[in-house]
Amino acid sequence: MVYDDNNVFARILRGEIPCRKVHEDEHTLAFHDINPQAPVHILVIPKGAYVSMVDFTARASDVEIAALFRAVTKVAEIAGVTVEGWRLLSNVGINGGQEVPHLHIHVFGGRKLGPMIAKPV
Ligand code: 5GP
Repeated sequence: MVYDDNNVFARILRGEIPCRKVHEDEHTLAFHDINPQAPVHILVIPKGAYVSMVDFTARASDVEIAALFRAVTKVAEIAGVTVEGWRLLSNVGINGGQEVPHLHIHVFGGRKLGPMIAKPV
């Protein structure tokens, strides 16, 4: 898995593209999705250069892994969805529907989110 330094989230991390930031710490950045699929749709990414969850769990430190998952929960709290419920999702690869090759966890909420995955067409 070769990391592409010019993917859109790498460019956001370098400040070359703006984002609507929700949360940031030493290891993670969270920002609103540009094309939200729910009233709350936030992306949480590691600052390190990891293509996907597979790459991340293979190469990231325990500290980075803990930081990412703690940031996801923190973002749900900031967004105010913890009482009514929310969903986290990370697409991996072609069948997973991953479009941006920098690991990201989607945080959805703000309405009933429906079935876990779309029915096959
Ligand atoms: P994926 O399909 O890879 O799991 O999700 C990629 C997500 O990134 C999509 O929901 C898409 O709307 C979002 N996205 C793509 N480009 C940008 C961008 O430039 N800024 C922001 N904030 N989100 C983006």
